[in-house]
Amino acid sequence: MHKYIVDFLDLLNGSPTSIQASSEIIKRLERYDFKLLKEEDHWELQNGGKYYICRDTSIIAIILGSRNLLDTGYKIGAAHIDSPSLKIKPESLKTENSITSISVEVYGSPIISSWIDRSLGIAGRIAVKEEDNFRILPVDLRRPVAVIPNAALHLNREINKGFEYNKQTHLKAILQSKESDKNPLMGALATELGVARDDIFGSELFLYDFELAELCGLDQSLIMSARLDNLGMTHSILSAISEVENPESTCIAALFDHEEIGSETRQGADSSFLENILERIAITKGYSREEYLRILNKSFLVSGDMAHSYHPSYPEKYDPSYSPVMNGGPVIKWHANYNYATNLESSQMFKKLCKTAEVPCQTYIIRSDLLCGSTIGHILSSRLGIPVVDVGNPLWAMHSVRETVGVQDHINMIKVLELYYQKNI
Ligand SMILES: [Zn+2]
Repeated sequence: MHKYIVDFLDLLNGSPTSIQASSEIIKRLERYDFKLLKEEDHWELQNGGKYYICRDTSIIAIILGSRNLLDTGYKIGAAHIDSPSLKIKPESLKTENSITSISVEVYGSPIISSWIDRSLGIAGRIAVKEEDNFRILPVDLRRPVAVIPNAALHLNREINKGFEYNKQTHLKAILQSKESDKNPLMGALATELGVARDDIFGSELFLYDFELAELCGLDQSLIMSARLDNLGMTHSILSAISEVENPESTCIAALFDHEEIGSETRQGADSSFLENILERIAITKGYSREEYLRILNKSFLVSGDMAHSYHPSYPEKYDPSYSPVMNGGPVIKWHANYNYATNLESSQMFKKLCKTAEVPCQTYIIRSDLLCGSTIGHILSSRLGIPVVDVGNPLWAMHSVRETVGVQDHINMIKVLELYYQKNI
């Protein structure tokens, strides 16, 4: 198996929530000698130096280029690390008729039916007492611990004609079916972390699909997993910047949480995080504010988020002229109303990269009678004034708990992004 695919499956399996995804990204950056910088500290940056900064779960990685920023601008790759999910309401645990269950809130827009009748894990983070204060610890129970069962067909005979799950009443996750102490979930978390139950002050927990990422298809050309949107593009950008050595341009990988809920949070793409970091790099390297604004004008951003692959069972959902196929290469995404930030200039730039990398390139435009999704590209483009191309790999069943992508597409996307960071094309 290609080394990028081995590492991709490992990232997917190690990232049940964006909290763990963030730790997995840091682990990989440190493996490639990126050093942690803190927003609250004074910075000294060396040319050729590799750094990363975290704002809660979002991460920005930097490699300082050898040339003057006024000549090169920043080369930025950006993606979101979160996926639609079911978030546990901490105080909702109840036992009725010996069945212990917990309620959830819907995070983002999942295909809800895909979460039913599956073995579910629980992961996230908890606040634990530490002397007079507390600390936050990531946690993953690392075994299937919950299920949201359907009603039997005999009790819901119309289900195959389409059924709307009520988010309050139908999505209770069952944790166990025998009487026990008052809060077995807190007990399991305490045991997992080796802390006293009374020392757990609070939690932020999500359900996740316990099934592992795996190759699929007679020719093993497909990858099936949860969270491919958007760990696919996260891994592509991360792998590409990790391979870069002594670049001329300053390379940035900006990996944001909270895209699925609109990006308007402290660490989301619609926060000050990326613009603060870009300005601080310029200031630390001795550029003036005017020069910083000129540097932005010279910069470029590739926004990576997955694209809708042509689905043979739903041909009526695609514009026949713009139907990207699985393993047919990276997709440039366009939208007349700029839900995608791609413009004529940025699309030419990405096409040239694909051509140089000898990778095929596809185009997606949604049918004119359907509503288009969006991503972080247009937010970053309007906030920073940087030209952006919105790209992604073809994917089936976006926002299902189990999505599908192509093996070759993933390898090709990394090849193109490596070229983007390393060379001045
Ligand atoms: Zn996405």
